[in-house]
Amino acid sequence: MNDNIPAETDSTAGIDFVRAIVERDIRDGKHGGRVHTRFPPEPNGYLHIGHAKAICLDFGIASEYGGKCNLRFDDTNPSKESVEYTESIKQDIRWLGFDWEDRLFYASDYFGRLYECAEQLVRLGRAFVCDLGPDELRDYRGTLTQPGRESPWRNRTVEENLDLFRRMRAGEFPDGSRTLRAKIGMDSPNICMRDPVIYRILRAPHHRTGTDWCIYPMYDFTHCLSDSIEGITHSFCTLEFEDNRVLYDWILDQLGVHHPQQIEFARLNLTYTVMSKRKLLQLVEEARVSGWDDPRMPTLCGLRRRGYTPEAIRSFSKRVGIAKRDSVVDISLLEHTLREHLNAVAPRAMAVLHPVRLVIENYPEELEEELDYVINPEDPSAGTRKVPFSREIYVDADDFRENPPKGYHRLSPGAEVRLRYAYLVRCTGFTTNPDTGQIEQILCSYDPDSRGGDAPDGRKVRGTLHWVSARHAFEADVRLYDRLFTRENPMDRSDGRVFTDHLNPESLQVLRGCMLEPHLKSTAPGDRFQFERTGYFCADSVDSRPGHPVFNLTVPLKDRWARRNP
Ligand code: ATP
Ligand code: MG
Repeated sequence: MNDNIPAETDSTAGIDFVRAIVERDIRDGKHGGRVHTRFPPEPNGYLHIGHAKAICLDFGIASEYGGKCNLRFDDTNPSKESVEYTESIKQDIRWLGFDWEDRLFYASDYFGRLYECAEQLVRLGRAFVCDLGPDELRDYRGTLTQPGRESPWRNRTVEENLDLFRRMRAGEFPDGSRTLRAKIGMDSPNICMRDPVIYRILRAPHHRTGTDWCIYPMYDFTHCLSDSIEGITHSFCTLEFEDNRVLYDWILDQLGVHHPQQIEFARLNLTYTVMSKRKLLQLVEEARVSGWDDPRMPTLCGLRRRGYTPEAIRSFSKRVGIAKRDSVVDISLLEHTLREHLNAVAPRAMAVLHPVRLVIENYPEELEEELDYVINPEDPSAGTRKVPFSREIYVDADDFRENPPKGYHRLSPGAEVRLRYAYLVRCTGFTTNPDTGQIEQILCSYDPDSRGGDAPDGRKVRGTLHWVSARHAFEADVRLYDRLFTRENPMDRSDGRVFTDHLNPESLQVLRGCMLEPHLKSTAPGDRFQFERTGYFCADSVDSRPGHPVFNLTVPLKDRWARRNP
């Protein structure tokens, strides 16, 4: 893979700041030199390309430093989670090329131990049962500029707290009526530290523990302890958890248990994309897209269906690098990385998306030839295959002009072009539909001595067209996809508009009656090709039928947006 676009690096070692910390810890023998990371998705949606960055970091660092990486579902929010999501997350991580081996965990597996830890905090006098309701809790918390106020229930005795907490667990109190809170201090400048709630009462069946629990631990309490229980050494998370790190450390210190180090990095943001699961769910629920795997979605299943390769996504993650500062990455970098990989690996094929018939008048009616077609000029080992040729072919309507503009090297009356790997043909005329004025047929003569596409006398022919033999071609639907949003930052609300106002009405265009060479008929769902002169395409994994592939545009050969928005 070509890595000419440098990632943000630690200038001395040529590595990013996260790897610099890991290397230092290994050198210092911290945690016995072990490296053990985890990827902790919340199973409340499908993974997106931002998660891919975190996955590449968590699994990547483990493998680079001879360590391990766990997959842990952070499933403490039963009302939003489901098995559908956990299965899709596993599938996506495997597809990206990573393996958690036998280390698949669920935070819910630790509910018993977390409960014990909470009781211990109570016994240490470091947690109390609070009777404030949700609104009062918010009110007492204070703001960034205003200190919080102490709960009137803060000074309950250990015995009373223990009794109440046990009764919370036993289901004696209604939802939301009481919480267990860490006893830290309401005057902390860091709001995360103002006696945060660590358990809440919630009667919601959990997708794994059923109705065993009516109290659920909060994220901050669960996360650090799950990391600790699993013997994690380095716990990577995105920058929005920077303030929570103090609480992470506080909880582990109070309990005196194994203490991993939390390290924050900047999340991935992409232009023309929304990346929050909540927003993606909204697009699905409002049927703005066909589902989580709509090929326009930035979800991993959407990108996969679109034709993205795991290699391209991994290579992209590497290029954007790991930084401490939030930034927005241009989506054209993702597309560029994809093109680069597909250029190297995708077999070529000919598909005419806007077909117009071309008749070679001096080519024998009954003759059919099998011509040699180079499967991938970038990869000689891919070899050649045969492509049928005959008197009538289809070429793209855009490759003919009755009145060609200056510098137009394609077909026009009198002009000569090369048919890719076939023959040189010269346009001798054309016919139009008398009603519509549309070109019906292009008429040509061919040079029988130019088989393969080379002029026998070395005369210069500049244009090369793709084509399909009319007799052999088959008809198929091709879907042209474009960016889902027209605004670079769809979340920009400065003009009072919301992200769904910026959906691109042209993000999906279905072309019917495209003519494809017969070789493509047997394409298996998910297989990718470069359609010459057009772009990379992938047989849709949902709508293709045996013998009837439906092709999705993965990415055009050229960045169309670069021209549109110079
Ligand atoms: P979202 O904000 O999209 O809803 P999330 O952070 O709630 O995502 P989680 O399932 O909690 O999603 O994320 C799992 C891991 O992936 C976390 O460590 C999180 O920090 C990381 N992650 C999520 N979004 C991004 C992103 N855009 N870039 C990098 N890492 C991300
Ligand atoms: Mg989250």
